[in-house]
Amino acid sequence: MSEQAKNAFYTGLQQNLDTLREQGLYKPERVIASRQGSEVVAQDGRTLINMCANNYLGLSGEEWVAQASIEATEKYGYGLSSVRFICGTQTVHKELEQAISAFLGTEDTILYAAAFDANGGVFEPLFDENDAIISDALNHASIIDGIRLCKAARFRYAHNDMADLEKQLQDAAGKRNKIIVTDGVFSMDGTIAQLDKIVELAEKYGALVLIDECHASGFMGKTGRGTHEHHNVLGKIDIITGTLGKALGGAMGGFTSGRKEVIDTLRQKSRPYLFSNTLAPSIAGASLAVLKRLSASTELRDRLHENTAYFRKEIERIGFTIKPGTHPVVPVMLFEAPVAQKFAARMYELGVLLSGFFYPVVPMGQARVRVQLSAAHTRAQLDTVLAAFEQAGRELGLLKN
Ligand SMILES: *Cc1c(COP(=O)(O)O)cnc(C)c1O
Repeated sequence: MSEQAKNAFYTGLQQNLDTLREQGLYKPERVIASRQGSEVVAQDGRTLINMCANNYLGLSGEEWVAQASIEATEKYGYGLSSVRFICGTQTVHKELEQAISAFLGTEDTILYAAAFDANGGVFEPLFDENDAIISDALNHASIIDGIRLCKAARFRYAHNDMADLEKQLQDAAGKRNKIIVTDGVFSMDGTIAQLDKIVELAEKYGALVLIDECHASGFMGKTGRGTHEHHNVLGKIDIITGTLGKALGGAMGGFTSGRKEVIDTLRQKSRPYLFSNTLAPSIAGASLAVLKRLSASTELRDRLHENTAYFRKEIERIGFTIKPGTHPVVPVMLFEAPVAQKFAARMYELGVLLSGFFYPVVPMGQARVRVQLSAAHTRAQLDTVLAAFEQAGRELGLLKN
């Protein structure tokens, strides 16, 4: 490459970055100097109540989880320097796969380095040009990428729209295998997929169902099994993908779970599994400890839902508009992008860490701050956060009351 062409390349990148900054779309990293938790210490020394982690069960910074990972490291070592099928499978990996299967009510489970990889590697080995994938329009980026890597015909239904899903299933009628694919919970709005209706349609039109449970595993449903438990369709979902990086401990790692024929096929053919390193034993061991705890008691799941109900009730009483629902993702609607930005900045000054979302991440005019509750939040912390919401809301003239 000529010096001139190289310069043009780098200058072009910088111009794009400058444009992002001008548009207010540049995403800076917020550096935390402490453990993850309901309270964190920012690099500038400021203590903040954290309302934007996927730390639903409060386990990310928990001492007993850290200890479980240390114990697994002591026993199994730091790493394997291998993919799973060559010499990267330890007893702890098999135990974790069994524990996830038992927790979700499936036959077998395959681990990945991330849910992004689970979704990236699930479609191509199972479906080809004779098949159809029918996907919710707002599915996670990793599902969209995974579907792109597969030769199956693609059908997209309008978000959460069961009439359109039915129409797409009719359009896909000529295909051999059909699979409906949806996030169990959509993280932008906390919308819970209508799995009862989806399963009904799947039965009517002879389709399989895949759900991505990243924002559900560990706390949705009466015993935290996920959206399939929440909607009473345990045992009726064919394939479940999920993450170990959110509620289930928060480190990293993902999985795909389902019938043994599916999982065994993925072990033979799924590229992120065949060509990427095994999950670190520290993570496998700690995840196993987490699943044992969650199977023994619903205490954390119950506390999370109590916190969620309290926050949803109080934030509306103060005079904010939220997207209705029951999920610990609570979108507090501010509508205009500059308002959402100003609001999040003011909340930071008041000691609350929040994330603002605006176009193009959410539709135009739907700007918001997204609150995420955790079992680790104390009532006192939530009251402090609510008081800050009220103060910032009053200052910016945003309260309905
Ligand atoms: C977070 C998330 C992922 C990615 O999970 P990782 O384990 O972090 O790769 C995939 N799907 C959904 C719906 C998610 O929310």
